[in-house]
Amino acid sequence: MTREPQATVIAGVTVDTRHWIGGERVASAETFADISPIDGSVLGEIARGTAMETAAAVAAAKAAFPGWAATSRAERARILHAIADGVEKRLEDLAIVETCDNGALLRSHRRGVMPRVAHNFRFFADWLLTLEHEDFETRGHANHVSWDPAGPCVLITPWNAPLMLATWKVAPALAAGDTVVLKPAEWSPLTASLLADIAAEAGLPAGVLNVVQGYGSEIGDALTSHPEVRRISFTGSVPTAKRISASAAANLTPLSLELGGKSPLLVFADADLDLAVNLAVEQYDNAGQVCLAGTRLLVEETVAEEFTRRFVEKARALKQGDPRDEATDIGPNIHPRQLEKIDGFVQRALAGGARTVIGGHRNDDLGGQYYAPTLLTDVTQNSEIVQEEVFGPVLTLQTFTTEEEAVRLANGTRFGLAAIVATGDPERAERVSGQLVAGTVWINCFFVRDLQAPFGGSRQSGVGREGGTWSFDFYCDVKNTVTAPNGWKNHG
Ligand code: NAD
Repeated sequence: MTREPQATVIAGVTVDTRHWIGGERVASAETFADISPIDGSVLGEIARGTAMETAAAVAAAKAAFPGWAATSRAERARILHAIADGVEKRLEDLAIVETCDNGALLRSHRRGVMPRVAHNFRFFADWLLTLEHEDFETRGHANHVSWDPAGPCVLITPWNAPLMLATWKVAPALAAGDTVVLKPAEWSPLTASLLADIAAEAGLPAGVLNVVQGYGSEIGDALTSHPEVRRISFTGSVPTAKRISASAAANLTPLSLELGGKSPLLVFADADLDLAVNLAVEQYDNAGQVCLAGTRLLVEETVAEEFTRRFVEKARALKQGDPRDEATDIGPNIHPRQLEKIDGFVQRALAGGARTVIGGHRNDDLGGQYYAPTLLTDVTQNSEIVQEEVFGPVLTLQTFTTEEEAVRLANGTRFGLAAIVATGDPERAERVSGQLVAGTVWINCFFVRDLQAPFGGSRQSGVGREGGTWSFDFYCDVKNTVTAPNGWKNHG
């Protein structure tokens, strides 16, 4: 790895560490160090944005908007497919850079995440071309609904799945005819820069996609309070979302907020227990840094002992270590501060009477920020560990005796992002899913996500839905045009 002020080379891949504004690379007076969670090494010195660069990026997005909005749907779709081609061509580069930057498994980036990044562009390009609402009549007047481009959008994303979450917003915004200022998380800034290269090569006009690097706490307000910004889509934590909401209120800028969760995984005695155990162990994926993770295991008392026995056996077999190694199941957590936060939650829970079934400690001998996969039991519904999102490989186990109690425990937090139900009874599945407060309910499965499905959270897990037509409803100004029956006569 070599480092220069304007670029860094990671595993042979050159990544520009400056902003991308109006089709040009722009440096900042200061930089910040981007640190790899694998071994704490400095990956690069990243441009530390200020109000000046954010203003320039919004100005570039504003200037590019009329041209991009006037570009035909077919041409926009063609360019989005060309971006997807570019992602596929550079899949290996993107996968290794992302792994070094955020510590998630290289094998997942290769086989799941980066193909999905390309699919984000293909899906919204194709969906754009199908977007229509049947015309209808009101007393002889014709109604026509259109999805008009809205303007410059600010897209702010977290570090746990950087490029996947960024492109899940960038793709529909570009398809909609909007222009974009993307602000990636400061703990994983690199693949957004590669995306800018790929989009430029694919023929996306200058200024349509801009990338501003930097600390959210320093440049966030300047972006979200900007009067020329027409949409803000944010994925991240609840406290940041509240701050953004307050800042966006100055201009009543429409917001889409995809936030944290504390999702339940309900295991009924009639479930296929091996399937339920597999679903539970899957919640350690990405070292527990998944917003949708079902971190609260709610297990029917009659099967709890057997469930726990099988769970422990499976979880102990997980291999933790370097995420570049194909055999690794759990990599590091993102940052020393995140590791401290995780351990703080666990130690406070143990001090409050929780009991460790497995884990409960850091895995310092692995050399980076590794936390042992942890299961805690003897926890109470009102305790911090049950109520607050840990965002690490930490699960809790509670038992229930009736379906009513299971639903009450499941719904008993301020979140409502997802819920997972393991049951062998279809009627129970329907009854229970109908009562759960969640944007997505998975029955006997997890993480099956179709991009045409509505995605978002209830309660403090989010505001609004994206996905399929819901994305276009958000990123567009939806308009209804009403034409009189004799509209073409000169009434004068
Ligand atoms: P975070 O809120 O700390 O940061 C997210 C982004 O917001 C970063 O880019 C950061 O720089 C920026 N930011 C920080 N302060 C800002 C401000 N004042 N104004 C504007 N932007 C600001 O979240 P995080 O720690 O990066 O991510 C983890 C959180 O994201 C978890 O709560 C997780 O559940 C959530 N998440 C939700 C989803 C979802 O789809 N619902 C997906 C992934 C992650």
